[in-house]
Amino acid sequence: MLVGTSAAVTYEAVIGIEIHVQLRTASKMFCGCSNDLGDAAPNVHTCPVCLGMPGALPVINREAVRHVLATGIAIEASTPPVTRWDRKNYFYPDLPKGYQISQYELPLASNGRLAVETSGGTVEVGITRAHLEEDTARLQHTRAGERQVSLLDYDRSGAPLLEIVTDPVIHDAETARRYAEELRLLLVTIGASHAAMESGGMRVEANVSLRPSGTEAFGTRVEVKNMNSFRSVERAIEFEIARQEAALRAGEPLIMETRGWDDERGVTYHMRTKETSDDYRYFPEPDLPPLRIDPAWLDEIRAALPELPAARRRRYREELGLSAYDADVLVTDAAATAVFEAARAADPELSAKKLANWVSGEYLRLTKGEDPEVDVGRISGAELAALVRLVEEGHISGTNAKEVLLRVGRTGQRVAEVVADAGFRQISDSSALQAAVDEVIALNPEAAADVRAGTSKAIGFLTGQVMKKTRGQANAGLVQELIRQTLQDD
Ligand code: ADP
Ligand code: MG
Ligand code: ZN
Repeated sequence: MLVGTSAAVTYEAVIGIEIHVQLRTASKMFCGCSNDLGDAAPNVHTCPVCLGMPGALPVINREAVRHVLATGIAIEASTPPVTRWDRKNYFYPDLPKGYQISQYELPLASNGRLAVETSGGTVEVGITRAHLEEDTARLQHTRAGERQVSLLDYDRSGAPLLEIVTDPVIHDAETARRYAEELRLLLVTIGASHAAMESGGMRVEANVSLRPSGTEAFGTRVEVKNMNSFRSVERAIEFEIARQEAALRAGEPLIMETRGWDDERGVTYHMRTKETSDDYRYFPEPDLPPLRIDPAWLDEIRAALPELPAARRRRYREELGLSAYDADVLVTDAAATAVFEAARAADPELSAKKLANWVSGEYLRLTKGEDPEVDVGRISGAELAALVRLVEEGHISGTNAKEVLLRVGRTGQRVAEVVADAGFRQISDSSALQAAVDEVIALNPEAAADVRAGTSKAIGFLTGQVMKKTRGQANAGLVQELIRQTLQDD
């Protein structure tokens, strides 16, 4: 039907996202080994269970289950009264048992959603399921002299892993990236995961297919992996959409495959043809009992959840009067949120808007690590609030306040101390400033004449001279006013 008219066909992308995150627990998923993956030495956190020794029996990690239940509540998913574990069978050196304990038919959470803001508006992404499983060992292909070798680190083997899968409801690369970012923020906020993408703590895979616009049936899907940043998620999907469209237009068939993302070359490449779930021979895990979820425990978890990012943005806008942009900047950065909340707690009367400006401006700039002497951990919310109050009440200038914040970040001194030591307290007493104003006017008769003639530039010049004389301590607004008054009066 489309033959001869194919140039006129437009395609719609269909995208589903699978995300794996490592959970924040003290021990691994089914044994007592430490879940500290930051440790440099390989193969130190192992035991018969996570090495897959015959006869070793798994024990369920309660904290990992709690994190997944909390995630389920946060994405408004349903939790089954009883859940089950399933064996996913495949052979690979990073999987010592020859199977992975996972959840197939009864995930801990299903049918959830997450709203994300995109340049095209709010998009609600449906989440099919979130389940708990165990991670594989880390396999590293490398060179030992002349030989190509593969090294195995079992420290990651059996670490708790949460997998979250969306419905195939995303239609563009930007929304896919925003979904991944928003889910990460949510998981970090509830403390379920550090979700560090650079170190593999969060792994994003994108399933991409195309179909002629206006049609229902799905096209052949390709799974893309190995994207190590949010930007690469977006780029990889954009590339894949374009690649598939070109193939379809050229009449080339697409195959169901797994492709990797090459960030340097900006292309996806074939890795392997895709397994179907039949290949995994899933069956109920005989070594673990079904898990009953106590409704009272669920209530407890719900009550302990912190304010979630979406609710926090809304509160910042609606109750504190912040702009959508400011609210988003504050909520997206965990350190910014924490210092903003602490500052508000220390001084609830302080203008939220002014405080937000300081946090999203100077404070966040200092967190970027450009100044190696600065440790933003030294800037408490209470001290930040004290500083903003000094500015707001006209006791120090904005410029000097920036310097104070920098010094607090470098030394951990209190704001009041720095202000006193540096002599930054602003002179806001007109009688104290009048002498300096008179002196500057006497020394600059031409500029004074210009001000009398109404030149606004000249008043800036005279103000600058007074500021210099007072080493920046004069209240600039007051100086201007005094200059005007003085020149009017004579
Ligand atoms: P698998 O383990 O085979 O990857 P999952 O069910 O874990 O299967 O994940 C499949 C993902 O692919 C889901 O996010 C789903 O929404 C998405 N998906 C399914 N069919 C398509 C399709 N035709 N095009 C794009 N994404 C799809
Ligand atoms: Mg998949
Ligand atoms: Zn172990």
